[in-house]
Amino acid sequence: MNEKYEAVIGLEVHAQLLTESKAFCSCSTKFGNVPNSNVCPVCLGHPGVLPVLNKKVVEFITLMGLATNCTINERSVFARKNYFYPDLPKGYQISQYELPVCEHGFVTVTSKDRDKKKVGITRIHMEEDAGKSIHDQAFETLVDVNRCGVPLIEIVSEPDIRSAEEAVQYLTKLRQIVQYLEICDGNMEEGSLRCDANISVRKKGQKEFGTKTEIKNMNSFRNLEKAINFEIERQIEIIEDGGKIIQQTLLWNPDKNEAVPMRSKEEAHDYRYFPEPDLLPVIITESWKKEIAAKLPELPEVRRERFVRDFNLPVYDAEILTLNKGIADYYEDIVKVTKDFKSASNWVMGDVLKIINEEKIDIKDFPIKAENLGELINLINEGTISGKIAKDIFPIMLKEQKSPLEIVKEKNLVQISSSSEIENVIVKILEDHSSEVNTYFEGKEKVFGFFVGQVMKATNGKANPKIVNDILKAKLEKLRN
Ligand code: ADP
Ligand code: ZN
Ligand code: MG
Repeated sequence: MNEKYEAVIGLEVHAQLLTESKAFCSCSTKFGNVPNSNVCPVCLGHPGVLPVLNKKVVEFITLMGLATNCTINERSVFARKNYFYPDLPKGYQISQYELPVCEHGFVTVTSKDRDKKKVGITRIHMEEDAGKSIHDQAFETLVDVNRCGVPLIEIVSEPDIRSAEEAVQYLTKLRQIVQYLEICDGNMEEGSLRCDANISVRKKGQKEFGTKTEIKNMNSFRNLEKAINFEIERQIEIIEDGGKIIQQTLLWNPDKNEAVPMRSKEEAHDYRYFPEPDLLPVIITESWKKEIAAKLPELPEVRRERFVRDFNLPVYDAEILTLNKGIADYYEDIVKVTKDFKSASNWVMGDVLKIINEEKIDIKDFPIKAENLGELINLINEGTISGKIAKDIFPIMLKEQKSPLEIVKEKNLVQISSSSEIENVIVKILEDHSSEVNTYFEGKEKVFGFFVGQVMKATNGKANPKIVNDILKAKLEKLRN
């Protein structure tokens, strides 16, 4: 990026709420049902029907507001956001405009060099989703209105973000919070977490903001980062060439890695907001707010600090382990079984996360029970198996839902810790490799590793490495004299 410029970014994030039923009717929110089956006269906007607010939606947005340091307004009101689009049979979305539930919050993001920074949250309001137009058909566009009326919250940030990296951190933080609160699954690919980025650039030191553009349609963190960087570069180039930025909405094309202006017709959403006459103002009393606050779970930052304190983990480990609530829960279940907190962390951060990421599965579907992984760690620490054997047992545990001890017994993998047994093997190996022994005495210390390898080979990897080392050293010293 050109050193003379600074980027200014604000994000508008939509999170689909995990309620069973829609925001204003009792239709199911279930994803993947037969198109146009989750519908009723209310969410289709038939004349004469009345919306009834789902109480869960208010609870969820209040949780989010509390978790992001917002003021929870005692009174908020709904508004109709009117526009025409084929996937919006009602002709308007119920939203909040002038009086949202939450205002004036912030979240703290930590950059790669561990600097902490607050990103302000202007507001969080309730909204219902529109339907879905499916354009990729040969000759026609299909409309599925199952999503009409599914509850969303929109989280609008202050223009406090200064780089694509920071935007990614901010969104990661929001996703982490909604997942901890269990109010949204946070899945960007499936669209349950959506993000529009407002971007402008200005000369460093300049106070006023530049003209902004808005990019839509980034369905992954990777695309968010790429799109923002693309747009920053594009704007700087225009300004450097003496041009002016036009305020417009761009659509990110992930295949071409570029953002293109939306057709002006699509962009001309000259929203008309009207007060929603069919819904009463929402009143969140102090006592209801307290009741909801009592349901707040331990939030990611607090949990991370507790992991460092209680399990004596490096901050880095604690951060990775608490990134996802399910992973953190899994880790805590392991350390109920083993007291080797750091080994448990290594197994989760290494072997477990590797598979979760490769197979793209949720930790809930990870085949190894936390309890069994704890037991595996204990088997190593008690000397029953070597660390190397443990790495061989792990893939078996993935396939067969057996305890590690069962597998060890079944496959006869118990570590050989009998000194006499190991000594016999070593004596034989040193006899069979007299020329290597001489090489060793000539100063080629590397040959030591070769002997260890031979012992492991002879014992199918079961010899206790510490005992092998000790005896091998002693035997060689004896031979030298
Ligand atoms: P609009 O009237 O276009 O909706 P808002 O003022 O409501 O704009 O802001 C929408 C989003 O854009 C917010 O997240 C805000 O932080 C961000 N934003 C506002 N002005 C700028 C700017 N000049 N550059 C970058 N982002 C901005
Ligand atoms: Zn309905
Ligand atoms: Mg606005």
